[in-house]
Amino acid sequence: MAQIIVVGGGFGGIVAAQSLRNVVGPAHDITLMAPTERFDLRAAFPAVALGRLKPESIGLSLPALCQKAGIQFIPAQVEYIDPVERTIRSSETSWAYDYLVLAMGAHFAYEKISGFGAHGYSLETLDMALHLRQAIEAFRGGAFVAGVAPESPCEGPALEMVFQFERSLRRRGLRDQSTIHYVTAKSVPFLAGGPVVQTFVADQLRDAGIHLHVNRHITEVAASHVGFAEGSPIPSQLTFLMPAYQGPSALVGSGLSADGGFMVVDDHLRSPKYPNIYATGDMVQMAGPKMAHNAMRGAKIIVENVAQALRTESVSHSFVPEVLCVMDMGDQEAAYIEADTIFGGNRSQVPLQGPVAAFMKEAFRDYFLQREGNIEYIL
Ligand SMILES: Cc1cc2nc3c(=O)[nH]c(=O)nc-3n(C[C@H](O)[C@H](O)[C@H](O)COP(=O)(O)OP(=O)(O)OC[C@H]3O[C@@H](n4cnc5c(N)ncnc54)[C@H](O)[C@@H]3O)c2cc1C
Repeated sequence: MAQIIVVGGGFGGIVAAQSLRNVVGPAHDITLMAPTERFDLRAAFPAVALGRLKPESIGLSLPALCQKAGIQFIPAQVEYIDPVERTIRSSETSWAYDYLVLAMGAHFAYEKISGFGAHGYSLETLDMALHLRQAIEAFRGGAFVAGVAPESPCEGPALEMVFQFERSLRRRGLRDQSTIHYVTAKSVPFLAGGPVVQTFVADQLRDAGIHLHVNRHITEVAASHVGFAEGSPIPSQLTFLMPAYQGPSALVGSGLSADGGFMVVDDHLRSPKYPNIYATGDMVQMAGPKMAHNAMRGAKIIVENVAQALRTESVSHSFVPEVLCVMDMGDQEAAYIEADTIFGGNRSQVPLQGPVAAFMKEAFRDYFLQREGNIEYIL
């Protein structure tokens, strides 16, 4: 009987643990570890911030879903991984594993932007979504800046926020008293979407009267403005940013990560040095945007590889990343986006736009929550 430990109770970890239970059966022990007992579906945070969804409708209890699925749940924060001894440690205990599946997400590096803690808003946690909701409700017109900090690998939420906020101001009769800006350090918005998606997003921003600022490196958020490494500041009474990411601190000293702290993996999502350790999601060193879509797809590939390794000691399933998402723009307006140019392909398209795309996002959210992450279909 093998001990398989999954670390992380987010999209990658839940899908990995549930799928492992389905695929390897009861012959092997599966454990899920996470520091908190609750999973909140991050993709719904913009809707929570805009008051469209209630916080209690987007969560899952990790202990409850594990108990139902025959997975052991351990509430613990992993502090150190020893790949040679095949153990992981918290501040109090250590556990031995035969296979380790890491899905610990990334550190959101707000500290790289001066003043962010006091004056900036983001959507990493449910508390942050509720904090932003208060600020949005208190907003009575003025300047709003949304954008991505230099080196941020996740632009979708910033775009969703700027479009949804713009629509909410129109509904509240505050649009004429407001100026809205979208800021990116890249040369175009949604660079990872390839040429068709980039043009689509730029057109949508223009049509909504949102000022687009490219090649601007945010260095500071203050109560009255956003500051940049180059050029003059932009006035802002409310600032939303997606920050840069860093690899999780539990990797430090493990020999599993590269310079930036992200975990190094091969095509099979395995550590090249320690082949019984796998990783998926935001913690993995990879080009392109960090998305739940790829965290969940990666989890499925890892499960196939672990199952194969248990039988034959070799693995053959490879992970090919892609950009696939629904950008929720509010009021049942959304765009379904597919791209892989950033990974060397030639897909860059917006095959669907409007209420049906909005419905796809809602349907996937409900499907994930109702199935408690035990899913076949991945959006
Ligand atoms: C507002 C917002 C909206 C988004 N919308 C979308 C979207 O529509 N579509 C999309 O594809 N992506 C979206 N994303 C990106 C998506 O949320 C992430 O890519 C995804 O959450 C990554 O999943 P993960 O499992 O790698 O990490 P996470 O979901 O971050 O989960 C990490 C887990 O590991 C746990 N953990 C961390 N450190 C430790 C430790 N030391 N020991 C034990 N456990 C630990 C955490 O508590 C957590 O349970 C969005 C992101 C944001 C912020």
